[in-house]
Amino acid sequence: MSRQRVLIWYRNDLRVHDHEPLYRSIVENAEIIPFYCFDDRQFGKTSFGFPKTGAFRAKFLLESVADLRRSLTDLGSNLVIRRGRSETVIPELARELNISKVYYHREVTAEEIAVEKNLEKSLKELNVKTETFWTATLIHPEDLSFELSELPELFTNFRKRVERDWRVRSIYETPKSLSPLPEIEIGDLPTITDLGLAEPIFDARSVLQFQGGETAGKARVKHYIWDSDRIQTYKETRNGMLGEDYSAKFSAWLSLGCISPRYIYEEARKYERERVKNDSTYWLIFELLWRDFFRFICAKHGNQIFYPSGLRGIEIPWKQDLERFKMWKEGKTGYPLVDANMKELAATGFMSNRGRQNVASFLTKNLGIDWRMGAEWFESLLIDHDVCSNWGNWNYTAGVGNDARGFRYFNIPKQSQDYDPDGDYLRHWLPELAAIPGDKIHEPYRLSIEEQKRYGVRLGIDYPRPVVDFFESVKHNEKIYNNSL
Ligand SMILES: Cc1cc2nc3c(=O)[nH]c(=O)nc-3n(C[C@H](O)[C@H](O)[C@H](O)COP(=O)(O)OP(=O)(O)OC[C@H]3O[C@@H](n4cnc5c(N)ncnc54)[C@H](O)[C@@H]3O)c2cc1C
Repeated sequence: MSRQRVLIWYRNDLRVHDHEPLYRSIVENAEIIPFYCFDDRQFGKTSFGFPKTGAFRAKFLLESVADLRRSLTDLGSNLVIRRGRSETVIPELARELNISKVYYHREVTAEEIAVEKNLEKSLKELNVKTETFWTATLIHPEDLSFELSELPELFTNFRKRVERDWRVRSIYETPKSLSPLPEIEIGDLPTITDLGLAEPIFDARSVLQFQGGETAGKARVKHYIWDSDRIQTYKETRNGMLGEDYSAKFSAWLSLGCISPRYIYEEARKYERERVKNDSTYWLIFELLWRDFFRFICAKHGNQIFYPSGLRGIEIPWKQDLERFKMWKEGKTGYPLVDANMKELAATGFMSNRGRQNVASFLTKNLGIDWRMGAEWFESLLIDHDVCSNWGNWNYTAGVGNDARGFRYFNIPKQSQDYDPDGDYLRHWLPELAAIPGDKIHEPYRLSIEEQKRYGVRLGIDYPRPVVDFFESVKHNEKIYNNSL
C-alpha cells in the first residue's frame, strides 16, 4: 500500500518543536507536505483604514517563515509557499498532489474560522479528510475542569479554577528527519515589498532587535531564563518600560507560534528544579494564563469581542474624533507617559504591558474615543499582535470586557511617577523634555514661563499642551459610562 500524503497547513504555529500535526504524521508514517500561504487579506486594510499587518509584523512573519523553511529543509523536507487564499490554494494542491488528509491548528476568531469553513467545504467535495489540533495555549481546553461554555468571565475566577488542578501536556518531540517532498514547485518567499509594505527601519532606541522564527525565539527563551537568570526577578521588573530584560519579550514569537507556551513552561519548571524556584519564576508561568484566558474567552464568545459594546454588551456612545485620535497615535497629547509610549510603538512596533494599559486607558477614559480604533491601531503596528490578547485586553481596559470593576482609569501622571520615577523612559522617547529635571518631567504643563525658558521647552511649541484636563475628562467619561449601564 502506498503511503498517505498529509498536507500540514502552517498558520500561527511556525515551528517544528511541540507540533502535534507533524508528530502525528510521522507516527502514521505519512508523507508530509508542509505548506504556508500568504493570504492577501492579511495585508489589506482594517475597518478604520490602517494596514492590517504593518511593516514590523510583516518583517517578523517573513523571517519566521524563512526560518521554518530552513528547519524543514535541514530535516530533509521543505516548505511549500504560495500567495492567495488558503481555501482556494489548498484544494488545488490536494488535487495536484493526491493529498489524502489536511492537518491544521484551529483558530477561534471570525476571519480565521470563515477560512476554515470554506476550506472544509471544498476539501469535502474532493473527499480529502481534515483533522484539527490545538497547541496555542498552555492548558489544553480538554484538560480544563469545565467546558469552554462554562468558562468563568473573570480572570481571577478562571485562574483559581485552573490553579486548583492544572495539567500541562508534555511537548511533542521535534522530528529527527522528514520525508523529502514529491516533485512540486516549492514557491518563493515573498519580499516585504511584494506584500505592499516598505522595509521598516530599525530604531536604535528599541527594547530589542526582534528577529522572527523558532531559532531566534528559542534563543530568547534561553537568554531570559538560563543565560541572564532574569526569570528570578521577573515579578519585580515586569512593569518596567525601558530595556531588553525588564520582561521576557516572548510575545511576538508566541503570537506566530514560533515558540510554544508549553516549551516556555518546561524550561521554567526545569529552571526551578535546577537553579531557583521563587515567586518570580512562577509569575512568568502565571502570565501565560492571561494569554490562555483571552483565547478561551474568544472561543466562548465568538464575535462579541469585536462589538463596540464588547463582552459585557455596554452601549457606550464612543466618539470617533479623528483629530484627537491622531494626537494620540502620534504621541502629541501633552501627557508624556502616553506620548512616549505611542512614539515607541510607532518607531519600533513594541510597547510594554504597563504602557499599553496606560495609553488604552487614556484613549477610552480621557478622550472617550471608540476603543476599536485603538485596537486596530495596535493590530496594525504591534509586532506581537495576537487577535485574542489584543482585542481581549482592549475590551478589558475600555471597561466593556472582563473587568468587574467597571469604570477604572489609570491616573497617568501618578503612573508616570510610580513606574518611571527618574523619568528615564520619558527622556528616552521625548528628547524635547530631556532637560527638565527630576519629577517635573512627568507634568510639563505645570512649568512656569520662567521654567520653560530655563529647560528649553515652550509649551504649545516644542511640546503640546494637554489635549484635555486630566480629571475633568475622567469625570465626564465616567458619567457617560455610568449612564450607559
Ligand atoms: C491594550 C493591550 C493590548 C495588548 N495586545 C497584545 C497583543 O496583541 N499580543 C500579545 O501577545 N499581548 C498583548 N497584550 C498583553 C501584554 O501587554 C503583552 O503580552 C506583553 O506586553 C508582551 O511583552 P512580554 O512578552 O515581555 O511580556 P511578559 O510580561 O514577559 O509576559 C510573558 C508572556 O505572558 C503573556 N501575557 C502577559 N500579560 C498578558 C496579558 N495582559 N494578556 C495576554 N497575555 C499576556 C504574553 O504571552 C507574554 O509574552 C496587550 C495588552 C494590552 C493592555
